[in-house]
This record gives sequence, C-alpha cells and structure tokens, in this order.
Amino acid sequence: MDTHTIKRIEKMHPSVRDELQQIINLCNENLKGKAQIRITQGLRTTEEQNHLYALGRTLPGKKVTNAKGGQSVHNYGFAVDICLLIDNKEASWDTKKDWDNDQVADWYECVKIFASFGWEWGGNWKKNKDLPHFDKKGLNNWRTLAKMKKDANGYVIIK
Ligand SMILES: [Zn+2]
Repeated sequence: MDTHTIKRIEKMHPSVRDELQQIINLCNENLKGKAQIRITQGLRTTEEQNHLYALGRTLPGKKVTNAKGGQSVHNYGFAVDICLLIDNKEASWDTKKDWDNDQVADWYECVKIFASFGWEWGGNWKKNKDLPHFDKKGLNNWRTLAKMKKDANGYVIIK
C-alpha cells in the first residue's frame, strides 16, 4: 500500500480505518500490480473545506465544490477520493481502462469492492457525479453528521 494512502487512512474516522485498509488491500490484489489504488483525499478539515469553497468565489480559480466547511462527508472522515497509480508513478482517473486485462475496468473492480463493504460510489449519483469519490453508507449525510457530538479528537461519536 502506498505511503500517502496509509497516512490518509490513519486520519479517517476511527470506525472505518481497518475496513479501508482491507478495501485497499483487496483492490490492489484484484488489480494485480500494473494499476494500484491511491487515496488522494480522505479527511478534510473545516478550514480546508472553506478554502475549497472560496475557490471561484472569493478566491481566483474555478469552483470545485458547493460544500462549505462542515457540509462535506469528507469533513467527518467518512469519504475518500481515489486515483489509480500506474506503474507506481503516473496517476490516472480513467474509469474505463482495463490494465489487468480481465475484461473488467480496473476502476469498476474497485467500485465493486467498495460496494461490498457498504461504500457508495459518487459515480452512481444521479446529478453532480463525482467519479473519484466514495463514502460510507449510513454515515454519508452531512446534515445528520453535523448534529452529532464529537470526541476530543474531533470525530463524531457513533454508537
Ligand atoms: Zn470526495
């Protein structure tokens, strides 16, 4: 597993860290080497989210999100964005390519593995599809998450 991915998993909500490790390992086994999965974004702080929201609004650039701080599942550590790392160097967001030649797009192999652990793919959304994005079913509504109490480390307390 690549070191960026390991570090990002360590900051996710504690309840999903082990599961994410399993998911990533399974994805990598299934992709057989040429392509490997990398988590490019996991937990995003409120400040980081507010900065993204400002892009294309009060800061130069294109708009990248409609979510302010606290309005993204990333802010609670229940969402990840991925890319595929090809030959251990080149990042790819190609969702169609079948690098391991097993007749299933590598990206979709990952989608199926995430789904088997109860993670929803942003590519299945009806509007504003978000192809790199996955979040944990049942814990992917920011309005609900925003109302929950947080522990000393800032993670929402789930039962
Ligand atoms: Zn995302």
